[in-house]
Amino acid sequence: MNPGCPNSECHSFQKNNFCKKDGHYIRKDDSRKIQRYKCSACSKKFSRATGTLEFRQKKRRINHTIFKILSSGVSMRRSAIIVGVHRTTIDRKLIYLAQKSRQMHAELLLKIGTQKVERLQFDDLITTEHTKLKPLSVSVAVDAQSRTILGAFVSQIPAFGHLAALSRRKYGKRRNFHRESMVKLFQEIAPVVSPFAEIKSDEHKLYKEVVQDYFPNAIYKQYKGEKAMIAGLGELKKNGRDPLFAINHTCAMLRANINRLFRRTWCTTKRPKRLEDHLAIYIAFHNSILLN
Ligand SMILES: [Zn+2]
Repeated sequence: MNPGCPNSECHSFQKNNFCKKDGHYIRKDDSRKIQRYKCSACSKKFSRATGTLEFRQKKRRINHTIFKILSSGVSMRRSAIIVGVHRTTIDRKLIYLAQKSRQMHAELLLKIGTQKVERLQFDDLITTEHTKLKPLSVSVAVDAQSRTILGAFVSQIPAFGHLAALSRRKYGKRRNFHRESMVKLFQEIAPVVSPFAEIKSDEHKLYKEVVQDYFPNAIYKQYKGEKAMIAGLGELKKNGRDPLFAINHTCAMLRANINRLFRRTWCTTKRPKRLEDHLAIYIAFHNSILLN
């Protein structure tokens, strides 16, 4: 089928009744033959590539490789060396792959929405923005049955514990956006979770309220935080039976496979937005490749 006219001023915009084949070109980048078209209503010429996320990319061949290695614990700079491109290219690919991954995720959520999630678990994972004095919280929700990651949102939180005073002195008061990101997360997952689902989490003070707002009829259970199995591996718990195993294991996988979430790493997030992009890529990889 011919694609529709991309010209928004044309009277047959996005319709293909006036679109005719109009030759082709060989795309140098991946040696594919690309069909060109012409809309005879407005004389606009375009091709199969017009309007795609990859439009005008010069290095399409490496997209899938970068998708996989950025989801496998490799740093941005090291990916550039492995693939043989400039690190700026990796920066741009991260943004493109995040867009692509969000599309994949939206399609997946539509699919899940028809069956509904019956067992939901969620939690927060703490990481930093360049320094420990600027912590970030990543709110993650997972389907405990299939282990599908349903969503993850990053929020700025103030420093806590013995770093709180130092952080305030050095960087001033740091606002807390945790509630906003919890709301974003629940807004995203509400359509795919059954209103009578079984929901589990730890005893964070904010959680009860948010669950009440979005799932007043759910069976909500909160559990006390357990001791970690190995020092430094906070997500994997000591006791044999962890009621929050699905979410804890998923968070451990995020830490193991997203380089900037490693503990004791040289690589840190410089911009929270990019962490969210990186999470989107990992989620698409996790749900589409690891779970299949
Ligand atoms: Zn047209």
